[in-house]
Amino acid sequence: NNPDQPLLSVRNLGKSFQGLQAVDDVSMDLASGQVIGIIGPNGSGKSTTINLICGFLKPDSGQISLRGRTVTGLPATDIAEQGVSRTFQNGRVFPTMSVEENVAVGFHRRLEARRPFRRLEKWPILRWIPLLTQTWLTLVPGPACRREAVVERKAVQSEIDRFSERLEEHRTQAAYTLSYANRRRTEIARAHVSSPDILVLDEPTAGMNQSETAEVLQQLLELKAQGQTMLLVEHKIDLIEALCDQVIAMDGGRIIASGPPRQVSADPRVITAYLGD
Ligand code: ADP
Ligand code: MG
Repeated sequence: NNPDQPLLSVRNLGKSFQGLQAVDDVSMDLASGQVIGIIGPNGSGKSTTINLICGFLKPDSGQISLRGRTVTGLPATDIAEQGVSRTFQNGRVFPTMSVEENVAVGFHRRLEARRPFRRLEKWPILRWIPLLTQTWLTLVPGPACRREAVVERKAVQSEIDRFSERLEEHRTQAAYTLSYANRRRTEIARAHVSSPDILVLDEPTAGMNQSETAEVLQQLLELKAQGQTMLLVEHKIDLIEALCDQVIAMDGGRIIASGPPRQVSADPRVITAYLGD
């Protein structure tokens, strides 16, 4: 593994919807530990870019690679298995599941992904081997199983604790009864609990008030200090400046400026794109 190799590399990505070019020739490199922000007016192609990278949409053109291996066009589950975890612009949680259960789903994702011989299971005959192992594990709930359950409970609990007492006091509550901000906190916790290589956040503070936004910023700064690589879409320029190493500004599906946050937010093309919206 080349240490200089970017974790994520995107080249000349393109996607159109019925003739509308939503993403047009987008390229970027995301290094390990780096935080990149994507800004731009509504409809400029930010979410589509994220959806392409995470495998929720297939690109018409261009390449995406993770650690130098091409993943272009792979389904979302494969991308997630390769360590890319995301949240959605509209904040998706499982409404009837508790906070704890929602976060546990994110942890299970990781257990799935790290199952040994995962790749070999694509071979029909070899598919029986993990099935037999799983059957054995359910028949003999031995130390391996118990150990896993303990690890899960600890991981979920510490993830919820990390997100402050505001989430902790609602731990066993169904997600649909939560405030909007707590639903979004739950979603970020679910994405982060799997220790992803890249955490992808689509407008994590959209619809939050000033103090809620400040709190999320604090949590993301902590993650950054721990070396978490992140790609985030965000409108709040204060948050972008506090958090991001690099910023990409989009308009009409294209990158119109990129570089350090202060340079990009002062760019006349970026100012025009926002004011012209
Ligand atoms: P942003 O996240 O920057 O607000 P999007 O990436 O969501 O922008 O959208 C970019 C453009 O693509 C918009 O014009 C939007 O209407 C269009 N678009 C996004 N997703 C779809 C889709 N699934 N089908 C058709 N058009 C879409
Ligand atoms: Mg969007």
